[in-house]
Amino acid sequence: MVEKIKDNLYKLEIPLPFTPLKALNSYVIKGKERNMIVDTGFNRPECLDAMKKGLDELKIDLNKTDIFVTHMHADHSGLVSSLASAFSKVYCSSYDAGIINASLNKERWYEILQETVKYGFPAEEDITEYLPGKKYKTSHTIDFIPVREGDTLNIGEYFFVCIETPGHTPGHICLYESREKILISGDHILDKITPNISKWFNTFNPLEDYLQSLDKIAALEVDLVLPGHRDVITDCRKRIDELKQHHDKRCWEVLRILKGKTMDAYTVASKMKWDITLEWNDFPVPQKWFALGEAVSHLKFLASRGLVEEFEGEKVFYSC
Ligand SMILES: [Zn+2]
Repeated sequence: MVEKIKDNLYKLEIPLPFTPLKALNSYVIKGKERNMIVDTGFNRPECLDAMKKGLDELKIDLNKTDIFVTHMHADHSGLVSSLASAFSKVYCSSYDAGIINASLNKERWYEILQETVKYGFPAEEDITEYLPGKKYKTSHTIDFIPVREGDTLNIGEYFFVCIETPGHTPGHICLYESREKILISGDHILDKITPNISKWFNTFNPLEDYLQSLDKIAALEVDLVLPGHRDVITDCRKRIDELKQHHDKRCWEVLRILKGKTMDAYTVASKMKWDITLEWNDFPVPQKWFALGEAVSHLKFLASRGLVEEFEGEKVFYSC
């Protein structure tokens, strides 16, 4: 489905079957010489079909089209290998670009499994087989052009500036058009659902990063937020306030769960409230995995403030 947002700026709704996210918003910016697609959908036929239909409707020639990936997740990056032509430039932060290409290595997924188990996920089977990041990733290595804070991309009448917004992923980048006051927010700011903030691997305190990145965006003049999922947002600062309040409440919830006890992050996650109408044991594996990551990011944040204690051995435990 193609929706015109502004002159030469369109939203394509790309279905994400069997996920709570339901669909990805891909944005297409048309220029005289080059076009740009921002985010792509999973590497699966349903996404490719929807993308092709939308691009045909907009008469987009992929030989004259570049691709911008806001962050590493497969629902944003998976289709790049099917869409990028020999003449396409593909932009992403160097950190997230590295992770996208590393996701083609088996060893990487073994490391992910090891870390998941360290935080308490039961290791009865290789749960990474269920993860969308493994199932719907790009089919080959991408020759990304790295972008960083302040880089400008000019497409037609639009000048988008890259704003580094670590938190949802370490290399997450938003695109800001200061004259039009438009922010393409990726998964940094979403309406109705809250972006997942997970702590994995080399990240240290992603929730701290995320809250700082929210403040960074709150300082900008934004009239229209174009997010990676769900509806566009017109009151950016109000949504930022709501997201900050959400994480404040989550921190209190984690402290209540942990009060006077010692447990692993998986057990903490199982006791937190989630927007899913199933019992914890019936959660699909990807939802349990995202929940665990979210619990760990809050535990790390609270540990950095001295509010919980972390004990790291072969496994990691928390107490307060
Ligand atoms: Zn994401």
